[in-house]
Amino acid sequence: MKSIVKQFLLYRYHRPRRLFSTNIVTDVTTTNNLTKTLANKVALVTGSTSGIGLGIAEALAENGCSICLNGFGENIDEIVTSMEKKYNVPVMYNGANMLNRHEIKDMIENDIKSTFGTSVDILVNNCGMQHVSPIESFDEDIFEKVIQLNLTSNFYTTKYVLNDMREKEYGRIINIASTHGKVASVNKSAYVASKHGVVGLTKTIALETAKDTNITCNAICPGFVLTPLVAAQIDVIADNKNITFEEAGKDLLSEKVPSENFVTVEQLGGLCSFLCSDNAEQLTGQDIAVDGGWTSV
Ligand code: NAD
Repeated sequence: MKSIVKQFLLYRYHRPRRLFSTNIVTDVTTTNNLTKTLANKVALVTGSTSGIGLGIAEALAENGCSICLNGFGENIDEIVTSMEKKYNVPVMYNGANMLNRHEIKDMIENDIKSTFGTSVDILVNNCGMQHVSPIESFDEDIFEKVIQLNLTSNFYTTKYVLNDMREKEYGRIINIASTHGKVASVNKSAYVASKHGVVGLTKTIALETAKDTNITCNAICPGFVLTPLVAAQIDVIADNKNITFEEAGKDLLSEKVPSENFVTVEQLGGLCSFLCSDNAEQLTGQDIAVDGGWTSV
């Protein structure tokens, strides 16, 4: 296993690797078809100013999509400019608070349409938060916020993109759920409930769009990905056990993940790109585990 600190630093300070290296030509046909299918498609990735969302946005940009970034943080102008330059695609940013349905609606129905001249083709519902506490002491406002951000926002984004996808006869809705959409862990009541809800919502959207032309909805259920969200949990373990960040990361993995490895944002970006391809047209309503074997135990 690569050093956990090294993996985290690599993740933080380097953009994801190119999906299709110019040095290793593996399957030109697949690459060309994917790039052709995704060229000029408009992709909205919520919570894409860091972590998994940013990795997915980069993968879709690499395949030719116009990108709408969303989320909070610093240096957003820099991210927009560097993505546009690196992938030669239009990139916009909308800072809609995903806890506010009016801001979500305005982003989808006004800002994206007026900036790109067309509606969303690919929706990746990725924004999310975690809070860890036993139920008895779980802050009530935080519980409601987790459900609203992780689950309810996915309902609103979907509601506002669906009519246009039906008109265009193409649409991909990808919900970033979690292993915690399939199994539970202690002290994560809000997160586990929200992610199980995301998997249920995914299946319902898939059924409601099953007869539409070329619209699919799937959930991706990652295990541990070394992003700020998980780094914060590793910090708590390290403090509680008085061990290093690296040791705490190994503890976290060995407790749950048979492969004892983190999932990478590049791997999730590659899967999203495939789900957007024509080959995935009949792949719908699934909750796809990318978890190093966690849910096979
Ligand atoms: P992250 O904290 O790095 O990123 C979260 C993103 O959401 C950021 O861009 C942040 O600005 C944005 N965000 C937060 N609140 C927002 C709000 N109110 N409105 C708009 N944007 C907001 O987290 P991550 O680890 O990249 O997680 C991304 C998704 O993947 C989440 O849904 C998370 O539950 C899921 N996930 C993560 C892991 C993991 O191990 N990291 C595993 C499984 C699932």
